[in-house]
Amino acid sequence: MRQRIVIGNWKMHGRVPTARSLISDIIEGLPDLSGDLQIAVCPSFVHLDLVSQILNNSESKIELGAQDARAETDGAFTGDVSVSMLKDFGASIALVGHSERRFGLGESDDLVASKFGAIQGEGLTPVLCVGESVSQREAGKTEETVLSQVRVIIDKFGISVLEGAVIAYEPIWAIGTGVTATPEQAQEVHELIRAYLKMENALIADSVRIIYGGSVNSRNAASLFNQRDIDGGLVGGASLKAEEFISICKS
Ligand code: PEP
Repeated sequence: MRQRIVIGNWKMHGRVPTARSLISDIIEGLPDLSGDLQIAVCPSFVHLDLVSQILNNSESKIELGAQDARAETDGAFTGDVSVSMLKDFGASIALVGHSERRFGLGESDDLVASKFGAIQGEGLTPVLCVGESVSQREAGKTEETVLSQVRVIIDKFGISVLEGAVIAYEPIWAIGTGVTATPEQAQEVHELIRAYLKMENALIADSVRIIYGGSVNSRNAASLFNQRDIDGGLVGGASLKAEEFISICKS
């Protein structure tokens, strides 16, 4: 049985007071997490310390995540943050390959793979974001696009690197648009990814958590999360409202 996971991606939103009240309200609204559910929030880098301190001063099992990380440990990389720096703040997971970085900032598959390897190598849980654009979907290239984004990781490190990792299927056309993939559309791609991994290693395929992201909210979460191969969600906009996020986690 795969443990469910819901991750809030706060992106570049909020200020110190809003980050403080958001995490405090989420902690209050989710007092007792059972072992069946893992929850993490990914604030901006500059809010990691604040959120980490609030989490540490509470009884909460909510985990701290980061939205990205540099693959190198140290060096002259202006503006970047390494995985070991994230560990200093107690981060246990990190997103990698979010479409806002792949397409917004031109991150290549190879760069994403290097970051993935560094996150996994430092003992954090990498959350590999994959997904097709609307034109790729319309051209019938969803499968090819998504599987090639997974393939790069396997080619670089071998299938065992995916042990304990999370894959987030995030169709680009659903991110921040209010358009959600139907549960059937999402399930179809999740099943494809799992079947693809199964050809490499059945145990890893069965245990890898594949979560859905793209305009998840409190109204559509349950129907998505009820699908056989959907193990939780990566939530952007709706994770900025404590009530919404809590309700999604309860779904
Ligand atoms: C995301 O950015 O990962 C995301 C899924 O955003 P939203 O929920 O706002 O679509």
